[in-house]
Amino acid sequence: MNSYLIRNVSILGAAPTDLLIRDGVVVETGTGLSASDATVIDADGLVALPGLVDLHTHLREPGREDAETVETGSRAAALGGYTAVCAMANTSPVADTAGVVEQVWRLGREAGLVDVQPIGAVTVGLAGERLAELGAMAESAARVRIFSDDGHCVADPRLMRRALEYVKAFDGIIAQHAEEPRLTEGAQMHEGEVSTRLGLTGWPAVAEEAIIARDVLLAEHVGSRLHICHVSTAGSVEVLRHAKARGVRVTAEVTPHHLLLTDTRAETYDPVFKVNPPLRTATDIAALRAALVDGVIDIIATDHAPHAVEDKECEWAYARPGMLGLETALSIALDVLGPQWDLIAERMSRTPARIAGLTEHGHDPAPGAPATLTLVDPAARRVIEPAELASRSRNTPYARMTLPGRIVATFLRGEATVLDGKALK
Ligand SMILES: [Zn+2]
Repeated sequence: MNSYLIRNVSILGAAPTDLLIRDGVVVETGTGLSASDATVIDADGLVALPGLVDLHTHLREPGREDAETVETGSRAAALGGYTAVCAMANTSPVADTAGVVEQVWRLGREAGLVDVQPIGAVTVGLAGERLAELGAMAESAARVRIFSDDGHCVADPRLMRRALEYVKAFDGIIAQHAEEPRLTEGAQMHEGEVSTRLGLTGWPAVAEEAIIARDVLLAEHVGSRLHICHVSTAGSVEVLRHAKARGVRVTAEVTPHHLLLTDTRAETYDPVFKVNPPLRTATDIAALRAALVDGVIDIIATDHAPHAVEDKECEWAYARPGMLGLETALSIALDVLGPQWDLIAERMSRTPARIAGLTEHGHDPAPGAPATLTLVDPAARRVIEPAELASRSRNTPYARMTLPGRIVATFLRGEATVLDGKALK
């Protein structure tokens, strides 16, 4: 294995120090370290963070390898500072059996750029009718602990209750895409002033809030763990605040785009801004940002959703919802939170690692910790060029925007996956 001596790096914003990586772990920190066998990295001005962990990534393989593969998505993740991603189950075939989750897990190991932890479907074929083989997926080589029908809501309350009961036995989690389907039929964007003006069918905030309210009560009743995907409204934050105060075992995520972009983007009719749940209002953004700081929202998750050109560069009404996220998430976090490194590490690494049970991730760089970390240049500013992204798709909502921060290097268990801002494989 390679050894690395990282010189003058600021660990989570602290005074610069040297950091020696050997045999997959951080063996020493301090000033003036030497190691003749190690590759030296000059990290003046760089900040070291624990490797980022994404609880919500769409890798599209198997089935839509024209949009993304496990390998291209893993590369995008490593370039974004990630060392682990949880792969959503809405592939084709759906990841609702031990066979498919093992396939995704194995492809992740072969790519070797990040740890790919498959998420299993809650229901067979994401159809919302009967439970998938949750136990078989949990016992498979992929050791699935999180189950989600993401893209679809588990709308049937009896099925949701049974899913929560089932995973309780092995402390699993149901991750809900909260969307009451009867309230969002035909929806094209957030229901509000802008949708009225544009004449587009609205996706009302209450469709999300009603499901979250129902599910936190179900989770409380059953005593199981519930996770809420991509929380997008101020009202959802209040429901979650209430549930957490009662001690419900619920965690929640917010995406970078819901922290930054508003529904006014739909005025462009550019489908790159079409996403589910939709972009909301400035009032929602303010509430989501406050909840991220005070902990009602636990983590930032990307909902990285690559789409092929024909599914995105068409009329708004026909475009698939979703946007890229892995290669820009840290920049958006820096833009929104500023250089609050401890908070960024908490929301993008330690807490998602803890929720997903990824015990090798989420450790601050310190002697004895796994060398699974990323180096950020916070002073860098970069213009996002879709053609330069490592993802196989191009649907970034930040095209030609200038964003703060750049990932310089990423290490997974002591091996560099990214150096000088370039992926090593
Ligand atoms: Zn979703």
